[in-house]
Amino acid sequence: MGLLDGKTALVFGVANNRSIAWGITQALLREKAAVGLSYATETLEKRVFPLAQEAGIDFVEKCDVTSDEQIAATFDKVREQFGKIDILVHAVAFAPGEELGGRFRDVSREGFKLALDISSYSLIPMAKHAADLMPDGGSIMALSYYAAEKVMPRYNVMAIAKAALENIVRYLAADLGPQGIRVNTLSPGPIKTLAAAGIPGFRSMLSHSEKVAPMRTLVSQEDVGNAAAFLASDWAKHITGETLFIDGGYNVLGLTATEEDL
Ligand code: NAD
Repeated sequence: MGLLDGKTALVFGVANNRSIAWGITQALLREKAAVGLSYATETLEKRVFPLAQEAGIDFVEKCDVTSDEQIAATFDKVREQFGKIDILVHAVAFAPGEELGGRFRDVSREGFKLALDISSYSLIPMAKHAADLMPDGGSIMALSYYAAEKVMPRYNVMAIAKAALENIVRYLAADLGPQGIRVNTLSPGPIKTLAAAGIPGFRSMLSHSEKVAPMRTLVSQEDVGNAAAFLASDWAKHITGETLFIDGGYNVLGLTATEEDL
């Protein structure tokens, strides 16, 4: 018996086996949820299909979250296949490469619009469709980063997108709570993934986090998956509108110091 026995999850954002969404999928499967996947573009099919097949997942749908039609069509297919769902995971983000790094003041209007459309706004229509398929309540979660709250070098427009995402989570939590639907943010420390590779200086973010975070370790996809399984489960039944940090305690620090500094 698993923590999520009898529950069904829909996970957006698997690009490959390093994706946080894949770590979450594996944890949900381990806890006996049925899982459907959605991925962004045809170019990802050669990575996503074999993963799904290996894991015994037979619902795998392409959906570009900038399209309301594609989001609606994906949820129509979810309704056909599963009838209802209990868990929605939004692990989707994008910003044009030129918007990451450089001076913050150079963020372009187009880059800002695209980053916030994909990384923040998309949660709203996804949650709306998901809520229609959650007659027994449910758990919705999105992935954020501490740059939503505090300035991080080079994260630029993505930090603004994450701040918007976290506030969207709070508004959705208030809106959907009366239907028994919880909405939360998972905020992991840095993890080497495809999206992370687009952030200049990401390696130094990793080594700095490992040196100074209270737990002195890096976070893995599996760690995020385990936290997601908890939030998806009835053990988290009164937790909504929250940001859950999975960062070895990095977010509690003011001045970050290494052993040598102390
Ligand atoms: P990833 O590249 O594996 O996942 C990002 C996903 O977003 C990909 O599957 C990509 O296809 C999808 N995506 C981009 N544009 C899309 C679109 N238009 N429609 C549908 N999907 C689209 O990288 P990841 O690090 O696993 O990212 C997952 C989430 O975790 C993101 O929200 C990211 O910001 C967040 N996050 C990552 C880290 C980290 O260090 N890797 C830390 C904190 C939060």
